[in-house]
Amino acid sequence: MKLVKLIANLGYGSRKQVALMFREGRVTDPAGEVLYADDAVAHADVRVDGEPLDPPQGLLLMLHKPVGYTCSTKDPGRVVYDLLPPRFRLRDPILSTVGRLDRDTSGLLLMTDDGALLHRITSPKSHLPKVYEATLANDLRGDEAAVFGSGTLMLESEKTPLAPAGFEALGPRRARITLVEGRYHQIRRMFAAVGNHVETLHRHTLGGLGLGELPAGQWRLLGEADRATLF
Ligand code: URA
Repeated sequence: MKLVKLIANLGYGSRKQVALMFREGRVTDPAGEVLYADDAVAHADVRVDGEPLDPPQGLLLMLHKPVGYTCSTKDPGRVVYDLLPPRFRLRDPILSTVGRLDRDTSGLLLMTDDGALLHRITSPKSHLPKVYEATLANDLRGDEAAVFGSGTLMLESEKTPLAPAGFEALGPRRARITLVEGRYHQIRRMFAAVGNHVETLHRHTLGGLGLGELPAGQWRLLGEADRATLF
């Protein structure tokens, strides 16, 4: 791919703006030699203003989503993209969230520009376990494990019952829930179905991936080793 397209696709500017960056000599190799718009140079060998390029296409990152941010590009309020470098929002192909977390849910959110990977993770066939912790407004009833694990729980306006979900009580008003699907507001609606109300919800893990020590609001790129733990 010609450099001008490669750099424009990373969100550095329109083709016209990036062409100007070349004319200004801002695009160089690691030794500082000026590169040209039509050159085809490996991603790793390009510098803009002396800095390595943003990660190439095929990136996967994890974000520790705080409460109060939506997984949308259009919401007029705070969105998860606000927590990433501004250029990441302008990439082509677009950087999408891998599934969604509600505005009021915190925790592990993946984002990628790799459509095949996105599909592989979110496909109902993947059965990738997602582990959440919820705090509840009322004491647990005691039958939640049976109800959530039954495979027969129907939520309002759904056409099929929920797949069996894992449930573990962590206290009178605290529970760990493991889902292998992702329906709209699923955990909040599951607890509503057993007469309870979710006060806080946090996603800890997705497949074999956890947040580790990543603080709320921070993100990090995932490499091959992380990807291997996912599936
Ligand atoms: N279930 C919910 O209710 N909300 C989420 O964000 C994720 C799972």
